[in-house]
Amino acid sequence: MKYYSTQKQVSPVGLQQAVVDGLAADRGLFMPEQIPVLPADFFENIDRMSFQEMSYQVAHAFFGADVEADVLKDLVYETLCFETPLVRVVDSIYSLELFHGPTAAFKDVGARFMARLLAYFIQKQGQSDVHVLVATSGDTGSAVANGFLGVDGIRVHVLYPKGLVSDIQEKQFTTLGQNIRSLEVDGTFDDCQALVKSAFMDSELKAHMNLTSANSINVARFLPQAFYYFNAYAQLKRAGLQGPLVVSVPSGNFGNLTAGLFAKKMGLPIEHFIAANNRNDIFFEYLKTGTYHPRPSVATLANAMDVGDPSNFARILDLYKHSHADIASEISGARYDDRQIADCMLETMRNTGYQLDPHGACGYRALREQLKEGQVGVFLETAHPAKFKDTVEPIIGQKLEIPETLQQFMNGVKQSIAMSTRFEDFKRYLLDL
Ligand SMILES: *Cc1c(COP(=O)(O)O)cnc(C)c1O
Repeated sequence: MKYYSTQKQVSPVGLQQAVVDGLAADRGLFMPEQIPVLPADFFENIDRMSFQEMSYQVAHAFFGADVEADVLKDLVYETLCFETPLVRVVDSIYSLELFHGPTAAFKDVGARFMARLLAYFIQKQGQSDVHVLVATSGDTGSAVANGFLGVDGIRVHVLYPKGLVSDIQEKQFTTLGQNIRSLEVDGTFDDCQALVKSAFMDSELKAHMNLTSANSINVARFLPQAFYYFNAYAQLKRAGLQGPLVVSVPSGNFGNLTAGLFAKKMGLPIEHFIAANNRNDIFFEYLKTGTYHPRPSVATLANAMDVGDPSNFARILDLYKHSHADIASEISGARYDDRQIADCMLETMRNTGYQLDPHGACGYRALREQLKEGQVGVFLETAHPAKFKDTVEPIIGQKLEIPETLQQFMNGVKQSIAMSTRFEDFKRYLLDL
């Protein structure tokens, strides 16, 4: 399969290059030239397949021509070795709980898959010492660090702003050891990102070492997120639920929602999507007006969705051939401010006993408000509420139970390297590795 750039200024490339480069040379996002449609018997039998089995079929449809079957199968099964995400009833709608991976959020799936696929390609190219640089405001760093933990031939360097990430988040990447290092930067997230960008542009560094990124726009990170849409459908089918399916997705960079759109194009019967935003409502405004106005993000309770210029918007435009009418007919929007998010968390807790995290709360509320008679509604609960304990507990007035995986991080010992915001210092660190 070839992958073209959404900017269409460069020639299509193979999967290997798309994964190793991440971004196309013209700064566009890679898109597969075809979206394979799965056969009818796949959907007939889907309720009898395990999550791993159906995911392998999905992965095979995209990557089967580029990765040997047994390698790909191992890759999918290793990616999904943790507990299968379950659909849970909350009142009359369904929550798909995507928080059973190591960092208790959905990004684990894409990060683990990408780490393994990248390692496979690097080995194929005969490289052994590849360095992944990742700047994080909290959540991406932990998913990437844990996704790459123990993966041969790759070392990860996480840059994060000192004092600006939560305790749990910090512990999730600073306590790992092995092939993961953390740099505590005396600055902001933007400073971290600037250091990483400068490193990629530095010719001396490039000549000296193999540097790559684990950006969320990588095809190997966003496509595997399609797996759990199939899983949700299979579980509902198993439960005998029929009726048009509506999926509500808490969205920031729109990778998760885009993966859902791919699942639909592969034949999965999803009738409608809801993109739930916080106050960073650029997509919501686009749906309303037809014009896209990116702007700087604002901080909200649902901070993993604080994105002012969602990268995957380019993929959505491309999927729908830039037709605003088509996009708006399949996806509807919603946006909530912090007050509404907090109210929703508290009310849902009181009325149903269900503990939402701030991101899932956006998805839940949007689904509640927009689901029509006869439709079956699922919202994605993108993280375990305990991941945002300090935000959630005061709002719902209850202590949260911390899952074992998160607790283990809390017991770990933080190890990080202090770093200034000066590029010379960061460059010295890299050259000395
Ligand atoms: C990253 C993230 C989101 C947003 O997902 P996108 O793919 O960026 O739209 C939502 N919720 C949580 C908990 C996240 O970590």
